[in-house]
Amino acid sequence: MKPKRILVAGGAGFVGSHLCTALIGQGHEVFCLDNFCTGRKANISHLVKGPKFHLLNSDVGKPAGFPVDEIYHLASPASPPHYQRIPLETFKANVLGSLNLLESARKYKAKILLASTSEVYGQPLVHPQPERYWGNVNPVGVRSCYDESKRAAETLFADYRRVYGVDARIIRIFNTYGPRMAPDDGRVVSNFITQALTNKPITVYGRGRQTRSFQYADDLIAGMLKVMAAKDFAGPVNLGNPDEFTVIQLAKAVLRLTGSKSKIVYRSLPQDDPKQRKPDIRLAQAKLNWQPKVKLEEGLQKTIDYFKSLK
Ligand code: NAD
Ligand code: UDP
Repeated sequence: MKPKRILVAGGAGFVGSHLCTALIGQGHEVFCLDNFCTGRKANISHLVKGPKFHLLNSDVGKPAGFPVDEIYHLASPASPPHYQRIPLETFKANVLGSLNLLESARKYKAKILLASTSEVYGQPLVHPQPERYWGNVNPVGVRSCYDESKRAAETLFADYRRVYGVDARIIRIFNTYGPRMAPDDGRVVSNFITQALTNKPITVYGRGRQTRSFQYADDLIAGMLKVMAAKDFAGPVNLGNPDEFTVIQLAKAVLRLTGSKSKIVYRSLPQDDPKQRKPDIRLAQAKLNWQPKVKLEEGLQKTIDYFKSLK
């Protein structure tokens, strides 16, 4: 494969750092743009000394283009506590960030991929969620800074394709976990594992009957690379693991795998928290020959080992 110049916006985050690692492993030159609002230097410390890795400490909302072959737009907080802490920055990262990166893609004829989200389906009334479902989103709720800005980003990607012929592609990522999640990220998998490893109470929100479908990071990265490499494929396409669990089931799995003495405690359910979520992945299976391989227990064990190594 001919080495390419690839920009990864949000490359110092959890998913971005795995993507940068995979791209460097394939021999590409990688430009990691990040403002470190939720990302961490530690996530990319194994890459920074390499001659083909370049770190750009910058905000994706500021226009700054340069010639590259491919662009991945991952620059946005993804954890509900984080995006609700900085809602306007989140909105700008997705909308202004998309505009800037799409302009760059247009100017330099680069392929560009948007890391959109299952949150575009909101509180889903269709289950599991296929790509053709338009969603059920509260436009003024606490999650809307994220949901609606990702939806707007999808619109921009679709219109840059229609109006300018930019090779713009969209993936919708469902709940993904794995090593390099920040211990204070606030999402459920990292919360439960850090709580279990320190024998602190496991905080289940609501009754814990809401469901999610958890995808291990390696499976997502394999899917992202396939989407970028696919011939004539715009998406949007769901990338997620269709194995569905309640939050209580997740808590019990973490307790079992860590051997923790933590007790489960119940906290109030956050506003607009989706009751259920599970991807329909038939499009990815048919068009990309992709499906996730890592079962929840195996992925959790690897993630637990990572969190143990941080101590
Ligand atoms: P993360 O918070 O670990 O990573 C996001 C990265 O983007 C961080 O390094 C952060 O510093 C950077 N960033 C945020 N705003 C920025 C800005 N304005 N300018 C430059 N950099 C900025 O989250 P993640 O889980 O790695 O998510 C990565 C992407 O994937 C996000 O776009 C997210 O919406 C999407 N996604 C993730 C999941 C998931 O379950 N992990 C699910 C759906 C969508
Ligand atoms: N959750 C929980 N305890 C926590 C963190 C999250 O019970 O400490 C629940 C949350 O209410 C949601 C699910 O776990 O129903 C997944 O939350 P997360 O923030 O990981 O992602 P979301 O899918 O909501 O964006």
